[in-house]
Amino acid sequence: EVTIRDLSKSFTLNGRRLDVLRGIDLDIRGGEAIAIVGPSGCGKTTLLRVLAGLEEPDRGDVLIDGAPVHGIGNQRAVIFQEPRLLPWLTVAQNVAFGLEVRGTPAARAADRARHYIRLVGLAGFEEAYPRQLSGGMAQRVGIARALTVQPEILLLDEPLGALDAMTKLTMQEELARIWREEGVTMILVTHDLEEAIFLADRVLVMSKDSASPTRLIELDLPRPRDRSTPAFVALRR
Ligand code: ATP
Repeated sequence: EVTIRDLSKSFTLNGRRLDVLRGIDLDIRGGEAIAIVGPSGCGKTTLLRVLAGLEEPDRGDVLIDGAPVHGIGNQRAVIFQEPRLLPWLTVAQNVAFGLEVRGTPAARAADRARHYIRLVGLAGFEEAYPRQLSGGMAQRVGIARALTVQPEILLLDEPLGALDAMTKLTMQEELARIWREEGVTMILVTHDLEEAIFLADRVLVMSKDSASPTRLIELDLPRPRDRSTPAFVALRR
């Protein structure tokens, strides 16, 4: 469960203060999938970075299950972007790497890596190198790497932006399955409204004008969210 209260964050750019997030209030239930869409530069990535503890807010509270998020390297919320895999490491080593740098013993890290490699459908590719993978497969490795640290919240920042249309569809199905199976809370930032509607329980449109608080307006989606209804299946075509 995520609780955001009166969250504000500004940056100083060329000596001028830029208010990026202003007075955000948001509640996300545990296990929920939320998508955030909105114009470029409105602060979506910044919000994810604050949730991951990578940016210190100027004001306000961000709580996960009632405890404040702070400090670089917090593992409760992990951001997944374009997977930057280390080319000299195998799939298994890439996935285990995130755990090893956090101090998990190598044997345990390897076990957990194997589990998540299977979960993303890459069993048999443990010993492959990144250059031997397709774009979609590399993406799965990145997702496995993010999941191995067992975050409570998976923050996805335009995760499928760079993929071709077909791979993107497959990966959207994969993400939906992983989200169902792992029961992880997911916050997805995307420019693809169709992807947002497909993957999320709630879609929030973020917008901001210069003087007022950041607005997060919830789209009115059909309820209950059942991704196997004919409307959803049709949306995938
Ligand atoms: P996009 O959809 O294009 O990825 P976004 O909604 O994710 O955009 P952010 O990346 O959060 O937007 O950036 C919001 C604003 O904050 C931008 O105007 C950006 O220039 C500014 N900004 C972000 N990080 C910094 C930083 N470290 N220093 C200064 N300004 C920053």
